[in-house]
Amino acid sequence: SRKTLTAINPANEKVVGEHDMLDEAGIAAKLDKTRHGYAELRQLPVSERARRLHAVADLIDERQADIAEVICHEMGKLFRGVIDETKISSAIVRFYADNAEEFMKSQPKEVPGAQKAEVIREPMGAVLGVMPWNYPLYQVVRFAAPNLAGGNACLLKHASNVPGSAKLITQLFHDAGFEEGAFTWLPVSASQIDDIIRDPIVCGVTLTGSEPAGRAVAKTAGDEIKPSVLELGGIDPLIVLDDADIDKAVELAIAGRFDNTGQSCAASKRLIVVEPLAERFTERLIDQVQKMRIGDPMDASNDIGPMSRKDLRDDLHDQVKRAVKAGAQLETGGEILDKPGAWYAPTVLTNVAPGNPAFDEELFGPVASVVVAEGTEHAIELANHSDYGLGGTVVGQDVKRAEQVARRLNVGMSFVNQPTTPYAQLPFGGVKNSGYGREQSEYGFGEFLNVRTVFVA
Ligand code: NDP
Repeated sequence: SRKTLTAINPANEKVVGEHDMLDEAGIAAKLDKTRHGYAELRQLPVSERARRLHAVADLIDERQADIAEVICHEMGKLFRGVIDETKISSAIVRFYADNAEEFMKSQPKEVPGAQKAEVIREPMGAVLGVMPWNYPLYQVVRFAAPNLAGGNACLLKHASNVPGSAKLITQLFHDAGFEEGAFTWLPVSASQIDDIIRDPIVCGVTLTGSEPAGRAVAKTAGDEIKPSVLELGGIDPLIVLDDADIDKAVELAIAGRFDNTGQSCAASKRLIVVEPLAERFTERLIDQVQKMRIGDPMDASNDIGPMSRKDLRDDLHDQVKRAVKAGAQLETGGEILDKPGAWYAPTVLTNVAPGNPAFDEELFGPVASVVVAEGTEHAIELANHSDYGLGGTVVGQDVKRAEQVARRLNVGMSFVNQPTTPYAQLPFGGVKNSGYGREQSEYGFGEFLNVRTVFVA
């Protein structure tokens, strides 16, 4: 029987697209094309790969509105949110296009006894990117751009609920001049991934998503002795120090927590407020959250849209109910909206502490959890009390002190007076169960390249 991926608009439950999936023979044919595509790509001058990446970046900018509409209809992100996503995406692609030649330059080394010693970087094959639905374009380009720049082919396994986005993004790379076998979308289910990782053309796998998905692909990659990069989200702290400006702190907390309807790996999932500010911060936060306009993501006057899928919305609601049962106080929201779609009311929970699901588990949706700290040391202790360590933000008027606190967080990304934000020039990734390896910057460039030593005595 014919298997398909169905995209459902989470704002109204209408079917917005159906796409055929690949069977075993279909996958084999795509992987054969990839073998040719890779052979061709790796012998191109770096400057030509960079030229094509510049074309990708330009096409992202030109097609901004079309991309935004497709993504908005498939996963419910605010239209203007997707426009922002296209901007960081083209910036990342341009960064690798601009720096590819520099990053690929051979490095001569002074070594005793060598007439010549140098280090060169070379591609290794095709990288499989297993990607989530929360930033359908950004997640793809941040693995594809550095790999294509370095000469690795790319295989995309996108999340099952965003097939139209996957198709559009793939078209973009092809229109920019990358061959079909250099960038390939594999419309397959998660259960078909194991065999793909084991195929000889695949030299590594990078996954952004949940911890179970990460464990599964890394296990197979390990069995095959192929490298992996994992970006698995977190329960990031946002610490409000005792000298913080309350209005500013609430503004940052709302941006950090509710952007993308709370569905970001590095969202400010635990708002840790140092006394004596807790009461004033919480009052202002509740007031601001209650003023948020929830509705049609295509309508620019709304602040928040639906979640991406009903099953994930139901999981979130279950977590909120368990959090309340375990002692959290529900201040506002905490309910499913009574209309078709994956709607969840913006929510604030207080009295959240270690042992509570809202502290210990990742809540991937529009729920702010307020944690009270007795002082700065207690705030740091609470922040680091987590199995995850992706990012962390510290808010305070004494910027020097805020930076010192931010540096003591056990995370991959420390931010002061700004929620965790991706930049093409800076590495993105975490420690502990948030994963390993880095994306973006020169660190993201080298993850799947061979670093070859050449020595002539
Ligand atoms: P998943 O981790 O299940 O999905 C991410 C990607 O991994 C998808 O392409 C998915 O494919 C694939 N995948 C899932 N299971 C496996 C597997 N066993 N082997 C190989 N690939 C797999 O996320 P969900 O969409 O189910 O969301 C669940 C939770 O994951 C969220 O509530 C959130 O906590 C976390 N998440 C984190 C993200 C981040 O940015 N770090 C992004 C999205 C989710 P398919 O869609 O076909 O299942």
